[in-house]
Amino acid sequence: MANLWDQPATTALRADGLRVADVDTSSRPGFTGDKRQGKAALTERGQVLSKLQEKLFAHGRTGGDRSVLLVLQGMDTSGKGGIVRHVIGSVDPQGVDHASFGVPTEQEKQHDFLWRIRKRLPAHGQLGVFDRSHYEDVLVARVHDLVPRAEWEQRYGQINKFEREVAESGTIIVKVAMFISLEEQKRRLRERLQRPDKYWKFSPADITERDYWPEYQKAYQAILDRTNTEYAPWYVLPADHKWYSRLAVTELLIDALTSLRLDWPPADFDVAEQMRLLERS
Ligand code: ATP
Repeated sequence: MANLWDQPATTALRADGLRVADVDTSSRPGFTGDKRQGKAALTERGQVLSKLQEKLFAHGRTGGDRSVLLVLQGMDTSGKGGIVRHVIGSVDPQGVDHASFGVPTEQEKQHDFLWRIRKRLPAHGQLGVFDRSHYEDVLVARVHDLVPRAEWEQRYGQINKFEREVAESGTIIVKVAMFISLEEQKRRLRERLQRPDKYWKFSPADITERDYWPEYQKAYQAILDRTNTEYAPWYVLPADHKWYSRLAVTELLIDALTSLRLDWPPADFDVAEQMRLLERS
């Protein structure tokens, strides 16, 4: 298939200097194709991603110390679950470590906010996925005053320090903030209320949270302004079109895995000799 990107997703989606208020949530930065082409590209690129992830897994199995961590943030219904199903779902589950972070448990509340996060960092060779993350502690916690301002203010610096350590230990961090419009969210919530097979995804709080949209926008702006670093960059993903957001995340992961320049691990045995022994067996 022809390359339908006029610039790589890593360039088109970089958050540098970006204003959340200016994001066109229905745009498809970098991609020149239509929905049909986007879906075809997802299938094709999913296979590329799968091969690269298998290399990472093989590398981890043979003593390698690299890993990749995808951090997914976004408002309710922005499509985090779809990324997990349709992008991460295309790779071997053995090599995936998926962690979702909801309201902290009593035990988690006894600790520093990064405690539960550290415990779920991907092991060597794994593709880790954070479905929500430590960023909730400067999003929902800030919007709803769950902790005093002085406390959440400090967290940006703590997060940067933490992510630097993680990156220095060999993990490539890919942070994706998914943005949908308020109108598109209404459409998705309406669909959840119209379909019994989607009731389980609905929570009445999703509606009350809509009143806080401007505050969330502000809190998202702050994370882009204060935690967009060269070792853990943010990508801003317009997510009204699910096919686009899935394709774009596939591309971001392909880029991250390619940058590791992994080869298949060499044999630690004499291949010719093993072949001879096999034929004789
Ligand atoms: P999702 O909405 O991500 O699909 P869900 O509806 O199944 O998930 P959970 O995963 O159980 O719900 O929890 C998500 C909720 O937990 C979100 O409302 C989120 O804001 C909240 N949450 C996550 N982390 C924190 C935190 N550190 N402090 C307070 N609330 C948090």
